[in-house]
Amino acid sequence: MKITNIKVDRVKVPLTEPFRISLGVITHAESAVVTIETDEGLVGYGEGAPGVFVSGENLPGTAASIELMTRDLIGVDPTDLEKVYWIMDKATAHAHCAKTAIDIACHDLLGKRAGLPVYKLLGGLSNSMETDVTIPINPPEYMAQKAKERVAQGFDVLKVKMGVDEASDLARMKAIREAAGPDVKIRVDANQAWTAKEALNMIAKLDEYDLELVEQPVKADDLEGLAQVTRASRVPIMSDESCFTAKDALKLIRGRCVDIVNIKLMKCGGLREAQKINAICEAAGVSVMLGCMAEETNIGITAAASLGAALKNITRADLDATFSLADLPFQGGVGREVGKLLTLPEEPGFGFKGLKA
Ligand code: MG
Repeated sequence: MKITNIKVDRVKVPLTEPFRISLGVITHAESAVVTIETDEGLVGYGEGAPGVFVSGENLPGTAASIELMTRDLIGVDPTDLEKVYWIMDKATAHAHCAKTAIDIACHDLLGKRAGLPVYKLLGGLSNSMETDVTIPINPPEYMAQKAKERVAQGFDVLKVKMGVDEASDLARMKAIREAAGPDVKIRVDANQAWTAKEALNMIAKLDEYDLELVEQPVKADDLEGLAQVTRASRVPIMSDESCFTAKDALKLIRGRCVDIVNIKLMKCGGLREAQKINAICEAAGVSVMLGCMAEETNIGITAAASLGAALKNITRADLDATFSLADLPFQGGVGREVGKLLTLPEEPGFGFKGLKA
């Protein structure tokens, strides 16, 4: 099988309401949807959804990088994944979202060619994954109301965005815990908002609300601070912005900087690199959560859920981006029905059908 054409469609979908975290606010999901055509008539789909606050990448850059890599990928067998990666890495350094788009489409083709759903090719532990749902930053009463709605929809894990100021963050958590009740797990994501000392102070003050874990308390490059928080905190600490690739994961593990690692396909360059990160973590006894960018459609979510379902060291998922989309531009893969269980299609590949006309 040979790649004959790679097409990029820029997709922009409004969110049902603005999504605010400590780093900024987004109102639309913007993504580069890739279609890879082959000489055998099989077609693979992928996407690169740059989370500008997290990765610093944007849509024009992602689309341009895909076009740059396309030049060298025409004529290559898309199921030769190591070769595809080698070619992409030679064409451009970094550009993780662009590489992820190609990587997802190649895995889709691999599954279609093999006649197997991708979750089976990746390990096949299970065909589904349970996700949390994120409560973005808003006034406390509004976040409490949202928490109540999400619990009524069947979610039993909430991920609460924080990092505004101490008083309002504590008011947020108090309102949310009261609204959600004692049985719901609550994880907190500060998106780098705190220093190590501030983080430890906040974690102590949040103790009465029974947190499951705290995500990325300090700046992405402050690995010493991250290690300091991890050593002193009773609550498990998870990296997000501190870990993009397998090399980052190795640094975090060597420095005993984290208890848990959040892998996002858009940060690392796709399913292939994500498996390397997970292998490093598993060998070190560190469990993994699979996260997503708020900009992703069901293409990225389906790919990530396939990996999460397949591997036992991936014990948590934060794959909720499609719940905030006003419309789903893409057909196939996991649906947009709001609920904690993401069930993967049994069709070959990811079950992708293509963009709506
Ligand atoms: Mg995060």
